[in-house]
Amino acid sequence: MHCPFCGAHDTKVNDSRLVAEGDQVRRRRECLSCGERFTTYETAELVLPRVIKQDGSRELFDEQKLRAGMLRALEKRPVDTEAVEAALQRVRHQIRALGERELQSRQIGEVVMQHLKQLDQVAYIRFASVYRSFKDLDEFRAEIDRLSQEPSPSADDH
Ligand SMILES: [Zn+2]
Repeated sequence: MHCPFCGAHDTKVNDSRLVAEGDQVRRRRECLSCGERFTTYETAELVLPRVIKQDGSRELFDEQKLRAGMLRALEKRPVDTEAVEAALQRVRHQIRALGERELQSRQIGEVVMQHLKQLDQVAYIRFASVYRSFKDLDEFRAEIDRLSQEPSPSADDH
């Protein structure tokens, strides 16, 4: 790492610690030539895939859009922000873990639904009704029936 002040090659690391929940390493460095101190942040580059939309066009994975979609589904639901953030993180993690450079938008939707289902069933149904665009009320009811037959996800957490 070159010194940003004088360009010297040799810098010394005085301190390293994990920040951002372990996603980043923060390093305090000191230049051996000019003595200036500076901080670097290192993040492993895990690139999220590009998204193939229904019309075949591609766009960059948009985290804000993902968050907005989930929050819309969760509107006025008794789910705390921490739980939403944790679910978002699991969604991102799972999408990265697929290791694909491109994903269909519906594949991403399926991942989101899977996690929303764990979080809040009303939010899940809201999201699914937009995403899967249920053809009619019967299809919608069938999904709700399926849900009510499954054991509650919070029950098997313990
Ligand atoms: Zn320097």
